[in-house]
Amino acid sequence: MNSLNLEALSATDLAAIERATGWAQSFVADRAEKWEFERRFAKEGFESAAEHQLTGLLVPEVDGGAAVSTLGLARVLEEIAAVDFAIAFSLVCHNNLAGSVARNATGDLRSETLPGLVDGSSLGAFLLTEPEVGSDAAAISVSAVSDGDEWILNGEKAWVTNGSDANVLSVYAQTDHAAGHRGIATFLVDANIPGVVRTPAYELIGGHGLGANGIRFDNCRVPGKSLFLPPGEGFRAAMEGIDLARVLVSAMCCGMLRTSLSTASNYVRNRNAFGARLADLQGVRFKLADVATDLEASRLLTYQAAHALHDGGDASVEAAHAKKFSTRVTETGVASCMQVMGANGAKRDHPLPRHLAAARLTHYVDGATEIQDVVISRSLLD
Ligand SMILES: Cc1cc2nc3c(=O)[nH]c(=O)nc-3n(C[C@H](O)[C@H](O)[C@H](O)COP(=O)(O)OP(=O)(O)OC[C@H]3O[C@@H](n4cnc5c(N)ncnc54)[C@H](O)[C@@H]3O)c2cc1C
Repeated sequence: MNSLNLEALSATDLAAIERATGWAQSFVADRAEKWEFERRFAKEGFESAAEHQLTGLLVPEVDGGAAVSTLGLARVLEEIAAVDFAIAFSLVCHNNLAGSVARNATGDLRSETLPGLVDGSSLGAFLLTEPEVGSDAAAISVSAVSDGDEWILNGEKAWVTNGSDANVLSVYAQTDHAAGHRGIATFLVDANIPGVVRTPAYELIGGHGLGANGIRFDNCRVPGKSLFLPPGEGFRAAMEGIDLARVLVSAMCCGMLRTSLSTASNYVRNRNAFGARLADLQGVRFKLADVATDLEASRLLTYQAAHALHDGGDASVEAAHAKKFSTRVTETGVASCMQVMGANGAKRDHPLPRHLAAARLTHYVDGATEIQDVVISRSLLD
C-alpha cells in the first residue's frame, strides 16, 4: 500500500476531495487568520462549505448527502486542515452529527432535522463534555426527566464546538443517575428554544474559528420526539463514533504538518546564512528530514486505521495509535518547521503559528492523549 492508497477511493470520494481542496485554498486560506484574529466562529466559512456540498459528507445520496467513505473523509479533512484546523474541526463535528441522524433518526425527528443538516441551513453540535466531566464521559450529570409527553433538561455542557452558532444540539443527558452509562440518552434539541443558554465563546490558545463555548439547560422543556437515542443507546453511539473521530483528527494533523513542512522547505531554499542557503546546512536538512519521516508515519497510521474502520472490524487500537502519534509529531514538527525559519517562523503572515496552537488542541479533542494510552495498554496487557 502506498501512503495514499488512492485505488481505495471511489469517484465520489475523489470528487469530494477535489471540492474540499479547491474550496480550502480559494475561500478559507484568505480568511482563516482573520477568523482567528477576530476570535469568532467562522460563520461564513460554514455557509460557503455548505455551498460546496461539504455538510452532508456522511449522509447517503438518497438523503441528499455525498456518502464518502471513511478514507475519503479523512482525505477531505486532511486537505481542509492543511489550510485551517478550526474550520475542519467545526465541519467534522457537524458532519458526524448529520451522519448519525441519517443512520439513527426516524419519523418527524428525521424529516425535521436531516435536510437542514445536509444542506447546511442548520449547524449541528455534539454536547457530551461538561464543566466537571471530560474523559470519564459516563459520569455526566446533565439530567433529563420525563414529564408527560415532554422531557425537562437541566445542567451545563462545556466545550461545545460550533456552540456559538449551532441550531441543532445533540445533547447527552442522564435519565437515571443510578444506572450509570446505561441511563444516558441523546436528545436533538433546537438551540433557540426557552431554557437553552449559551455562555460566551471561550478565549483559547487558538482555534477560535470552531466556535467553542458552554451551553446551559435551565428547565429546558423539549417534546418527546426529541429523544434521539434512548437510554443506553446514547452512550453506546457516542463511544462507537469515537474511533472515526480519532482517525479524522489524525488526518487533520497530517494536513497541518504537511503545510508546515512545505512552508519551511520553501523558506530555507530561499534564505542564506554564512554564505550558503539555509537548505544546505545539514542541521536544517536533518530537522526537516525528521518531520518528513513523522509525516509519512502519521499518514500510514491514519490510512491504516481508516481502512480498518471501513472494513467494519474493531479499529479502536489502530485509531488510538494514529491519533496519539499524529498529534504528538504535529506539535513537535510544526515547532521544528518554525525553528528553521528563524524569527520569521513566529510571524503570522504564514499559517504555522495557527497550526502550532491547533496542534496543542488536538491533544484534547476526541479523547486526550492519555486516553489513547489507556486503549493501547489495555490491548497489550489485559
Ligand atoms: C478545541 C476543543 C473542542 C472540543 N469540542 C468538543 C465537542 O464538540 N463536544 C464535546 O463533548 N467535547 C468537546 N471537547 C472536549 C474534549 O472532548 C475533552 O477536552 C476531552 O474529553 C478531555 O476531557 P477534559 O479536557 O475534561 O480532561 P480531563 O478528563 O479532566 O482530564 C485531565 C487530564 O487527565 C488525564 N486523564 C484522565 N483520565 C485518565 C486516565 N484514566 N488515565 C490517565 N490519564 C487520564 C487526561 O488525559 C488529561 O490529560 C473539545 C475540546 C477541545 C479542546
